[in-house]
Amino acid sequence: MLTDEYVKRVYAKVEERDPDQKEFLQAVQEVFESIEPVFAKHPEYEAAGVLQRFVEPERLVKFRVAWVDDNGDVQVNRGYRVQFNSAIGPYKGGLRFHPTVTESVIKFLGFEQILKNSLTGLPMGGGKGGADFNPKGRSDAEVMRFCQAFMTELQRHIGQFTDVPAGDINVGAREVGYLFGQYKRLRNEFTGVLTGKGLEFGGSLARTEATGYGLCYYTQEALRVLRDDSFEGKTVAVSGSGNVAIFAIEKATELGAKVVTCSDSNGYIYDPNGIDLDVVKDIKLGHRGRIKEYADRVAGAEYHEGCSGVWTVKCDIALPCATQNEIDGTSAQTLVDNGCTVVCEGANMPSTPDAIAVYQKNHVLYGPAKASNAGGVAVSGLEMSQNSYRLSWTFEEVDERLKDIMRNIVSESLDAAKEYGHEGDLMFGANIAGFVKVADAMVAQGIF
Ligand code: GLU
Repeated sequence: MLTDEYVKRVYAKVEERDPDQKEFLQAVQEVFESIEPVFAKHPEYEAAGVLQRFVEPERLVKFRVAWVDDNGDVQVNRGYRVQFNSAIGPYKGGLRFHPTVTESVIKFLGFEQILKNSLTGLPMGGGKGGADFNPKGRSDAEVMRFCQAFMTELQRHIGQFTDVPAGDINVGAREVGYLFGQYKRLRNEFTGVLTGKGLEFGGSLARTEATGYGLCYYTQEALRVLRDDSFEGKTVAVSGSGNVAIFAIEKATELGAKVVTCSDSNGYIYDPNGIDLDVVKDIKLGHRGRIKEYADRVAGAEYHEGCSGVWTVKCDIALPCATQNEIDGTSAQTLVDNGCTVVCEGANMPSTPDAIAVYQKNHVLYGPAKASNAGGVAVSGLEMSQNSYRLSWTFEEVDERLKDIMRNIVSESLDAAKEYGHEGDLMFGANIAGFVKVADAMVAQGIF
């Protein structure tokens, strides 16, 4: 429930303008509920119209992506890039290729990205993009042609000092390579216009691991500060089996936890002996297979159809690393009833508002995505720095910087939460700390 008049007025306008964009409205509402107390302390924000400008993208491009499939048939997809906010740096954010991609999804992701990027402390504005392309079942040649067609239009809008995309769901090293190649071919320039690049052409060590590792560094630090506790001896449920999930499982295991689940869009694996990550990596990274295969290969492991079942498994810590709204109120309640006291998000907005209400009511240590999964874009920022220097740091150097950034996000969030009367609340704190930095920059740069 919103109470501040200014915030209420701006929210009503967003709703009136885009009544059907439910994911975007959900993300805006959550942030608005947290940042309400900021405006009494900062009357200059309302005077400069910060909030109504903050919710309207600086630019949104929507374009046709036409390509030829292996049968010689023409396929047409819809591509997007939202350049949401450039107050603190060039637009920065991933590209998602998934049939569920819509303008609302891209806008919610871009909106979250503004605050996430601000929390990293690096100079990056917020952007996001993608297409409703489904790479499942497509050959490598088809994926290449799609990426080339997508970049043929996108290249007009991006650049190393303007907008720097990266990966997101279904956009990994292979896709970034094809996208980068096409940008270079069309523009005849070799710059750090994308992050998540291959190591041979300007990529950063530890970028692949960064989101999953960063999620665990964040969770470990929050546990230490708020509960004098750690991953040691804990049972962990992870959803997903992509890049974020794989490296979250790896780091949580290294920190002494037992991870007992992972999933894909068809179903989930329960392995009471702890997930054997080599098998997951072989299935998912090796031959892009389905997670079901794990149960055929590992004795004692069970496969269950339906991915939301993963939240019925008994655990101490849940790390949702699949997609938006994967934990609803019922799943959240089941987690709590089974003894789970920590939820930190690897995916973007994986918890519905009902789920968040359950966490709050039950004093769950809740790490919101824009803070807990900021490690990926943080190392993207470090990749941009290395590209500017034209040199590469060691894995250890990048990993140390990532740890520092994640620890900093926890402390900045807790400081902001305390300052605005929500001591210990990582969600309020992340929203406020991320917002204030961007709002100050928007005021300083004048109205546009
Ligand atoms: N897609 C990632 C995210 O949601 C990374 C974006 C990036 O590296 O630019 O933050």
